[in-house]
Amino acid sequence: MCGIFGIFDHNDAATITALGLHSLQHRGQEACGIVTHNENNFYSEKRLGLVGDNFTKKDVINKLPGKYAIGHNRYATSGKTFLRNVQPFFADLAGGGLSIAHNGNLTNSLSLRHKLVDKGAIFQSTSDTEIIIQLIARSRRTNFVDKLIDALFQIQGGYSLVVMTGKKLIGVRDPFGIRPLVLGDLDGSPILTSETCSLDIIGAKFIREIENGEIVIITDNKIKSIKPFPEIKCRPDIFEYIYFSRPDSELGGKSIYQCRKNFGIELATESKTKADIVTAVPDSGMPAAIGFAEQSKIPFELGLIRNHYVGRTFIEPAQQVRQFGVRLKHNANHNCIRGKKIILIDDSIVRGTTCLKIVQMLNNAGAKEIHMKIGSPPIIHPDCYGVDTPKQDELLAAVKKNIKDMAKFIGVKSLSFLSVEGLYRAMGCKKRNEDTPQFTDHCFTGDYPVVPIDKALDKSKFDQLSFLSNVNI
Ligand code: AMP
Repeated sequence: MCGIFGIFDHNDAATITALGLHSLQHRGQEACGIVTHNENNFYSEKRLGLVGDNFTKKDVINKLPGKYAIGHNRYATSGKTFLRNVQPFFADLAGGGLSIAHNGNLTNSLSLRHKLVDKGAIFQSTSDTEIIIQLIARSRRTNFVDKLIDALFQIQGGYSLVVMTGKKLIGVRDPFGIRPLVLGDLDGSPILTSETCSLDIIGAKFIREIENGEIVIITDNKIKSIKPFPEIKCRPDIFEYIYFSRPDSELGGKSIYQCRKNFGIELATESKTKADIVTAVPDSGMPAAIGFAEQSKIPFELGLIRNHYVGRTFIEPAQQVRQFGVRLKHNANHNCIRGKKIILIDDSIVRGTTCLKIVQMLNNAGAKEIHMKIGSPPIIHPDCYGVDTPKQDELLAAVKKNIKDMAKFIGVKSLSFLSVEGLYRAMGCKKRNEDTPQFTDHCFTGDYPVVPIDKALDKSKFDQLSFLSNVNI
């Protein structure tokens, strides 16, 4: 996933960027970085871990002078977690310094990387973002924006970028607008950020969303917009609404919180069950559970309590850590669970790790019956645009034969999912347009807006690149 942030011409650029990244922490917790420049030099600080643990101290911020800054929170969906994979990346090109922060995943990164290595390119990282820098560096065009456009025409996938040169701050959103990017303003200093919640934290104004396929170029006292790609309909990733964005953010003019509540309302309409209480897997299932309780008139209770000092379970990449994390994170509220028929709501099931542990916990706490209801459809297709659900054989709904089998595996009396139609209704659409769906919803439907071409390639071709992973810098 990842969170990106950039600010142009502000006296406290590094501090503002640290605050912005802090409010985007939910988009990636493995590592973070800030690059600034002060018209003479670029300065870069990158750390493994959380923004609050790394960028609150004066000694770090003091190493980041200048009125121009970009920052990045990392959630590894491509490339391993070494410091050299941490963004923003910086490079000295023929025309001057360049720094880049990227949210998303390129679907043709392996083939591009292979071609570039063949031509003698030297890669410092295993991240797909470095490919964009290499393509910019090799472009024959003369001005920087043209070089960038040249690179953009070669990459495919879901991406939002913030790019900083000595004179410009540039924001880019992919042709389908799969990943989000918004423009804000803090006392006359333009801001580019993944989500609107990061404008609130610094008291900045929301100006507008960057459109799909749009490049916004910010220079002294000017914001220019260009759209080099053929116009197509925007298809933001529905997963931003289901899970990734913070509930206090707005995307596509819609409140994320309200959309999630609507998922619960639709779910209650589609799947009626008698029960004593509705409870949620905190925090991800909360808004849908509130909507479900409102619609079904079954009382909502806090049946599970979350320890807020543990990060998002899923964000730890290794499966063992994920399992361990789930137990660290939640506890059953015994008094509220004992002897009750429970409707348990979560936003989604990916690998099934979370619900399996939670159900065991509720059973141990004396629940009489557990009916699990999910505020999105079954995830049966892997992602390739930056959401960390890449392998089909790890997706519970893909490996189990049917929903009954899934329910048995999880250990619940019944299991229901929101239908794709219900999901679209909750988003305020009468129905899903079959020719050009309103959202990127491939995880449920298998309809990929950009065909993941690297999947078709012979992986052994790229094994020569694997030496990179052995060097842990
Ligand atoms: P799992 O435990 O693998 O079934 O993952 C489902 C849990 O992780 C749910 O509680 C979700 O809130 C959260 N989740 C859902 N989708 C994702 C995703 N793509 N990346 C990270 N976490 C997710």
